[in-house]
Amino acid sequence: MKAEVFAIGTEILIGDILDTNSHFIARRLPALGIDCYFTHQVGDNLERLTGELRRAWERSDLLLLTGGLGPTEDDVTREAVAALVDEQPVVDPELEHTLRGFFAGRGYAMPERNVKQAWLLPSTRAIPNPRGTAPGWWVEKDGRVLVAMPGPPAEFTFMWEQEVEPRLARLAGGAVIVSRTLKTIGVGEGTVDEMLSPLLKSTNPTIGVYAKQDGVHARITAKAATRDDATALIAPLEAEVRRILGTAVWGADDDTLGKAVGGMLRDRGMTLATMESCTAGLLGATITETPRSSDYYRGGFISYWTELKKRWGVPAQVVEQHGVVSAECAEAMARAAALATDADFGLSVTCVAGLDPQEEKPPGTVHVGCYDRATDRASHISFRFNQGRHAVRERAVTVGLLLLRRTLLGEQPGQVIRSG
Ligand code: AMP
Ligand code: MG
Repeated sequence: MKAEVFAIGTEILIGDILDTNSHFIARRLPALGIDCYFTHQVGDNLERLTGELRRAWERSDLLLLTGGLGPTEDDVTREAVAALVDEQPVVDPELEHTLRGFFAGRGYAMPERNVKQAWLLPSTRAIPNPRGTAPGWWVEKDGRVLVAMPGPPAEFTFMWEQEVEPRLARLAGGAVIVSRTLKTIGVGEGTVDEMLSPLLKSTNPTIGVYAKQDGVHARITAKAATRDDATALIAPLEAEVRRILGTAVWGADDDTLGKAVGGMLRDRGMTLATMESCTAGLLGATITETPRSSDYYRGGFISYWTELKKRWGVPAQVVEQHGVVSAECAEAMARAAALATDADFGLSVTCVAGLDPQEEKPPGTVHVGCYDRATDRASHISFRFNQGRHAVRERAVTVGLLLLRRTLLGEQPGQVIRSG
């Protein structure tokens, strides 16, 4: 089944909003076995929208639209669809009743403009929208299907999950595509690609290698008649990828690095504290993204001011001798955090995040430190990553978590890989 996706709204074309709806749909279609051939972004213009819809209607089986279902004059999706299928809209009494009820429930009279949200065409069924006023449209005509959904992501995603995806699954009913993503850290994209090269020729499943913010991902994708069949195709390849990449693999699919490393601490019954300079809490925030992280996270210090680092336990001599952006200072910060909180591990970040003419160190200089109370030993990773303030801070957090992971695994800080 061939599909095309339409994001409708002038706000998208002028860069006012990001078209996240198309991205959402594009991600969901493979699992339904539906091929997405085009995505379109079209403004609120009846003529251009109708023209684009006609072209797509000629060549594809399924058109998926979001946006333009509002009550205002510039929302013209219904008008365009009516023109496409050459039918006259009529006000559906039942929909109108529901719509008036929606407004009454909020203590308002319904503006008459909203009546068009109760329109239907002969070949259209309404799709309920419990989160808003505009119902969606399910149109079937001439062997083709068109689905129009509201623009606001909260309404659209709810409608998609509850109504649209189940119907599409019944409609497509053919092959499904299932993906499994294995996430690695500490190995470059080229290295992963090289290590997996004997497997890259496989056609079903296929393997793709992608560099992401939290490391390099290897995605295994299989196509089969059912979900179970696709999963069975993936399993042996996943085992092989895990064997080759060994401890570089820290998680899969929706796992986050913070959650993965937190899980390791929980399994070992160990605790952690942090001291952060330039990331100013981002490391702590990342670690505490998971519920019940208080089981292993003691807390953190944000020690921006040099004096504060000293007051919280970094020896003055370390600061004077090596400066605050140094591997020595990172290690001392990690130690200070652990000792001050009686935690098993301390983790720290000190860096020059952005351009600062006053700063002698080049921007993007990062030192992360880790202290292990059991051995009274500290370690560090130092690197440069000159891609702007935000990216440097994010990367510093990722590498900090990598260092902690390696410490927990008994690996060397700079160790590249240990195959399983
Ligand atoms: P509309 O129904 O076209 O008037 O859209 C209402 C609101 O939904 C817009 O102002 C955006 O905030 C949001 N929206 C519409 N289309 C999209 C889209 N493709 N991606 C993300 N948000 C959208
Ligand atoms: Mg709009």
